[in-house]
Amino acid sequence: MNAELISVGSELLLGQIVNTNAAFLSQELALLGVNVYYQTTVGDNDKRLFTTLELAKSRSDLIILTGGLGPTKDDLTKETVASMVGKKLVHHEESLHNIEAYFKKRNRPMSENNRKQALVIEGSFVLNNFHGMAPGMIVSAGNTKIVLLPGPPQEMKPMFMNELLPQLAAMMGEQTSITSRVLRFFDIGESQLETDLLDLIESQTNPTIAPLANEGEVTLRLTVKHADPVEQKRLLDETEEQITKRVGQYLYGYDETSLMEQLFLQLQEKNCTISTAESFTGGKFSSMLTSFAGSSAVYRGGIVSYSTDVKENVLGVSNEVINKHGVISYQCAIEMAQRAKEQYESDLAISFTGVAGPSKQDGKDPGTVFIGVSGLTSEPLYYELNLAGNRESVRDRAIKYGCYYILNEMKRWNKKE
Ligand code: ATP
Ligand code: MG
Repeated sequence: MNAELISVGSELLLGQIVNTNAAFLSQELALLGVNVYYQTTVGDNDKRLFTTLELAKSRSDLIILTGGLGPTKDDLTKETVASMVGKKLVHHEESLHNIEAYFKKRNRPMSENNRKQALVIEGSFVLNNFHGMAPGMIVSAGNTKIVLLPGPPQEMKPMFMNELLPQLAAMMGEQTSITSRVLRFFDIGESQLETDLLDLIESQTNPTIAPLANEGEVTLRLTVKHADPVEQKRLLDETEEQITKRVGQYLYGYDETSLMEQLFLQLQEKNCTISTAESFTGGKFSSMLTSFAGSSAVYRGGIVSYSTDVKENVLGVSNEVINKHGVISYQCAIEMAQRAKEQYESDLAISFTGVAGPSKQDGKDPGTVFIGVSGLTSEPLYYELNLAGNRESVRDRAIKYGCYYILNEMKRWNKKE
């Protein structure tokens, strides 16, 4: 099956937004083995969209359009596709109910043009929108299938994954269904992971293995095709086992779970409380941890001991350590964690001290980071890092490492249990 993408929106042409929809769709279609030969971006203009559609129809089996399904005047994707295939727009009762419910829930009046969003192309297969108002559609035009998806990524992605994927599998003539599992790794680079798994990645066809790197993390997406869900799981488990045999020590979680969420879940499971003493991370670790509902069961509290004086006089790091080793030292990180653990009466405490940059501090280079952990083992632990990147990325990566170290240590607990 040969596919092409048409992204509709003048904002895209003006460079005001980046075309992440096309990137997402191309990646997903590649995993399905669908060739994407063209990506076109066209503004909110019916004539140019019409010409683009005609050309696409002449050369592709599948056309996926995103954008222009909204209620306003410039949203004209539906109208243009309808006129090209010679069909009318008709009311879709279910979508109208969905739109009415959407406004009711938000307690806002529904305007007349919102009704326009409940119109679908006659004879089309309607794709439900559970994250917004505009329904998607699959329209047949001779041998070509034309798919219309909404522009906002938070609506488009779930519609693609949950509503369109099963239809695509059916179109591809396979009595099968497709699922994927994402394995999340940390502290190993994409090239190293790929090198360690190269033969597997190249020889595996079901499931396929696709690596992706993002913000210091690497993920592997396993995509399996099989009609039987039990068999799907078995195939995924089997491949996962082959992978973890080689790089299992770097695996920290699955699917959409972030390192912080994984830490939160582990603390919860182990009934373990944590407190914090943060310097250059400025409280970000605490802020991220408390973003999860139920964090009060695991998070006791913490201090942002940013200045040396607060480290010493409020947190209680000894003058001796500060004078002898400076605040950017593992000795200071250890004491920060120990004092936090005592003061906040938690099972564990983590501390962060370091240089976010851009300039040196106490003769230490930007990216020098010390993380202390107290309470995990009989002796306090510390970790030293030399991170590259700007202020924000040094802080973010230090926090990720902090989570990762605790998780790794907890894995050892699991083994002992
Ligand atoms: P709405 O109901 O919000 O009007 P729509 O289906 O009409 O949705 P557009 O009006 O084309 O879609 O785009 C709405 C928003 O969706 C854009 O402002 C942009 O934030 C996002 N968006 C649209 N197309 C893309 C794209 N190709 N990549 C990333 N984001 C996009
Ligand atoms: Mg719009």
